[in-house]
This record gives sequence, structure tokens and C-alpha cells, in this order.
Amino acid sequence: MAILRIEGAEMVTMAGDVRVESGWTLEAVDGAITYVGPAEELQSAGEPDELIDAAGRLLLPGLVNALVNAHTHAAMTLFRGAADDMPLTPWLEEKIWPVEARMGEDDVYWGTMLGIAEMLLAGVTCFNDMYHLPRVGTRAAMDAGMRMCPSGVLLGILPTADDMLADAIEFTREFAARDEGATAHCIHPMMAPHAPYTCPRELLEKVIAAAQDLDVPIHIHLAETHDNVEWSLDNYGKRPAQAMDEVGLFEAKVLAAHCVYLDYRDIEIVIERGVGVAHCPGSNLKLASGMAPADALFKAGARIGLGTDGCGSNNNLDLLEEARLAALIAKVREDDPTAVPAEAALRMATLGGARAVYLEDTIGSLQPGKRCDCILVDLQAPHLQPHHNLVSHMIYSARASDVCTTIVNGAVLMRDRELATIDLDETVAKAAESAARLFG
Ligand SMILES: [Zn+2]
Repeated sequence: MAILRIEGAEMVTMAGDVRVESGWTLEAVDGAITYVGPAEELQSAGEPDELIDAAGRLLLPGLVNALVNAHTHAAMTLFRGAADDMPLTPWLEEKIWPVEARMGEDDVYWGTMLGIAEMLLAGVTCFNDMYHLPRVGTRAAMDAGMRMCPSGVLLGILPTADDMLADAIEFTREFAARDEGATAHCIHPMMAPHAPYTCPRELLEKVIAAAQDLDVPIHIHLAETHDNVEWSLDNYGKRPAQAMDEVGLFEAKVLAAHCVYLDYRDIEIVIERGVGVAHCPGSNLKLASGMAPADALFKAGARIGLGTDGCGSNNNLDLLEEARLAALIAKVREDDPTAVPAEAALRMATLGGARAVYLEDTIGSLQPGKRCDCILVDLQAPHLQPHHNLVSHMIYSARASDVCTTIVNGAVLMRDRELATIDLDETVAKAAESAARLFG
């Protein structure tokens, strides 16, 4: 039995209202949270194997790609800075896809590992990843101890689409089976048809059937750009969300990335069908895709989390930056400074992300019974003074580098800015080798 105890923290549990509890204790046994509350009421399971004094630090649930990163392509760290300031379609067709076609296993492994290192140092404890060679990216996450929702990319426009689907089903079955009855492991597979405009209806129908059969979510890009809407109107006679509803996509659990272009009826569908949304404001701004209706979705109770998207279009995996952008652009979009307040942005980064990837029973808040995924934030920096409102500070003032400890499944993966499970020098060197080969 391994006991982890964190004492004396300022704590935002995300269970119920968003508020700061002062001087609380968290205890976890074998990676599962067993106690959250005042120190004097702790009935300890025994002497802790790991005791963390968190005085002067803020304890939060891990960010899902914020802490939960609800949508990324981690191995695209290798593309950082290689092609910027372009529209989405030529960027994909001229700069991204030709290079991806040359990527081998080492490239995906070290690109993903570099992304994991960056995320752990930024307080991200879980990431939802859509990328080629998913077994390789998953191996990187397992080697690092990171929580991951992996999926390969299904591109229905390729002649190999049927083989890709068969392989995706095999991959998903392998990891979904491990999930049964066991919450101790950190790999939660999904199936990922890339987008409606790259996957014909027949392929989508096969994926829906397989995902329902395997009881895993579907990860897809949806209504990302104005062009996507035009394509959908031309090909389905309906806007993207309504077209996908007609196809039956939302009969399965779905995590839809972007959702920039949703009208009133589209939002109703997202709410009625319980669709998860990964809001990716940084990517949407950089590609001039638009501004998603995040405030309306959050207020309507959507499963809305935050994603960084890949490093080709962001160009980092910093989920706190994403939370700040979510709060800021909502105000401009709605012409209303009360849109997406700090509490809402922090919820999207944590429990919202967990809901978006259908892991809210496992992670996203600090409560007994959930897995111990959490982060500590150093509150001593000048830019975090004074302590009027720590929730506000997390959204409007904190930086990724203020995260001093990252814990996944009860294991300390980053302590005092040092990674415990990743050789950072080796990872940086290997990723540089891959980038030089791919872009040389
Ligand atoms: Zn994406």
C-alpha cells in the first residue's frame, strides 16, 4: 500500500462551487484519493510513503490538456515554428500532410515524449491525442506515467481507409479491454475519424458502430472553419453539427474539437446529445478560424473542456494560456466582460475537460474515489501577489512555469520543475534529430 499525503495546501477541489479552501489535506492510497478536507478530520490510512508540505502553494485537479488537454496532436511538437501564419487548408495540404507521410516510429515517439514533458511541466495531467501510429504515442505516455486518451487518425479520403479502420478497432479493443474493472491504468482509448470533410458517410457509420460496440468515445474535428460549414451545406445540405446528427454520430459518445461554427440549433443538439466539446481558442485565433460560442455552451451545461490543438497551430501545449484565452476572447465575442469568468475558465480546464473526454468519474476534481491527478502551484511569485482571489490568479496571472509539482495517478511525475520519469536532455536531443531529418 502506497500512501501519498499533501498537507497545508490552499485547495480548489472543483467538487461543487469553485472556491478556495485554506490549509486542507489530501491523502491518496495506491493512486486513489481517499481523503480531502481539514487536517484535523483526517483518519489516515497510515504513515505516508510520500509527504508533501504544500504551505504557500495552491492544489488543483490536474489540467486536462489542462490540466486536461481535451484536444491535441502531441507529436506535432516537431512542427513547432516550421510553418506559421497560413490558412488551414493550404497549411494542412502543403506543409503538414507531406511531412507526416515521412514520419516513422522514432519521430512519433520522441515528438510525443517532448509534448508530454512540456505538458507535465505546465500542469497538464491528461491529454486527448489524435495522431498516426497511436501505439507509439501510447508507449511514450506509458513510459512517462502520463494519462492519455489515444486514437489513430482515420482519413476516409485515403485508399487505405478500411485497413486504418481495422487497425483502429484492434488498437481500441486492446486498450479498452484493459479498462474493464481496472481504474489504475492511465490509457483511455478513443476512435478518431479526422473530420466530416475527410471521412465519407459510410466510414463514419462503421466507426459509430464500432465505438458503440467497444463503448469508447469518438474524437473528431467539427465545424472548425467557415469552409467546413460551406462544405457541409454543399454535401449534406445541413450545417456540420446537424449533418452529423443526421448521420447518427451523436448516438455514440463524441468529443468534438473546435465547434467554432454552431448556431442556436447546433448548440441545442450538442446539449441534447451530451456531446463533449474541446474549445481550442489559441489554434482558432492563429488560423483565423473564428471564435467558438464557449460562453453559451458553458452556460447551457455542455461538456466543454479546453484543448491546445497541435503545436503546428498553437504553438505550445500550455493549457493555462488556453484558459486565459478562453476567458478573454469570450468577452470580445459576446461584447460582455462577464462572459466566461475566471471560475468558468478554470472549470473548463479541469472538470470540464474530464467531462469532455468522458472521464468525469475518474478525474477532474479532488474527491474521494477519484484517481489522484493534481498539481501544486507556487504562489510566491511577484505576479501572483497579493492573494485577493487565487481562482482569478490561475486564469489571469499564473504561468505554466508557476506549476511546481504534477501528480498523475498518485505518482509524482514533476517535482520542483524537475521531471521524474523523463530524461529531458535525451528527449530534446532525439526530437531535434527527428525534426532535422523530417524538415531537412
Ligand atoms: Zn486538431
